[in-house]
Amino acid sequence: MTDLQAIVEEIHASLSPRRGKGKVADYIPQLAHVDPQKFGMAVVTVDGETHLAGDAEEAFSIQSISKVFMLTLGLGKHGEGIWKRVGREPSGSAFNSIVQLEYEAGIPRNPFINAGAIAITDLVLAGHTPKEAIGEVVRFLRYLADEEDITIDQAVARSEQATGFRNVALANFMRSYGKLDHAAELVLGVYFHQCALAMSCRQLARAGLFLANSGTNPLTGHRVVSHLRARRINALMLTCGHYDGSGDFAYRVGLPGKSGVGGGILAVAPGKASVAVWSPGLNENGNSLLGSLALEMLAARTGWSVFGA
Ligand code: GLN
Repeated sequence: MTDLQAIVEEIHASLSPRRGKGKVADYIPQLAHVDPQKFGMAVVTVDGETHLAGDAEEAFSIQSISKVFMLTLGLGKHGEGIWKRVGREPSGSAFNSIVQLEYEAGIPRNPFINAGAIAITDLVLAGHTPKEAIGEVVRFLRYLADEEDITIDQAVARSEQATGFRNVALANFMRSYGKLDHAAELVLGVYFHQCALAMSCRQLARAGLFLANSGTNPLTGHRVVSHLRARRINALMLTCGHYDGSGDFAYRVGLPGKSGVGGGILAVAPGKASVAVWSPGLNENGNSLLGSLALEMLAARTGWSVFGA
């Protein structure tokens, strides 16, 4: 057992009594069925070591963590041209907020809030049917994690499709400014499915490992993005990855990270490791309560904060 394995197990054990704290997202009805006691952690280092604790092998709904992978795909397809459609500034408002869109003529603040991710999905959809685009996203995640066993939870996708009125409003509002190329229902058909990707902490940590290793997946040797692009995606995760809780996450954890309302968080320790945590109870910003605490403890124990040990 290496020191890192001991650290991961110790953090998991010390937080386990607090499982069930926070509020499980219920505005997507299917997510409300998830057991609030679940708690998993996975750390995959750039040297190829994997350290797991708790429910690290159980697939959960990655939700907004998919926005990192969609941004990567969007940049791959359109390069820096995507910044005509979406900004790079923290929003300071909730993940599904609409107010800022009116002030900035349909240009969302950043790719990691819902409106920004919908704008990116619209770009990824270019030249494809929604079905093809969904297939591309699933294949991309399988390629990144180097595992075939990654699928979409169709019950979650249907649940979002049936109740995602706010996202329908965001998409139509952007379309009204001429800032979406496709009809809202086509874009959202892809968006709801990307959010419903089901992955385990271990798979997610592996999929994010290229961001910890200057754009190359050290396990497969595949260069996914350039060094510069990896650095820039990390910068956006640090500044915008936790909505209006991004400043607090940087203050407490000090790592680029992206959360989802399924209770997962992907965090990147550049040059060190990719980390995924999952605990469904959320704090007031819609970020995993226990997951944030686990990452705060991990950063403290390892000295991995990008701001210094
Ligand atoms: N699918 C969710 C939504 O669109 C994603 C939000 C999130 O994870 N913060 O509302």
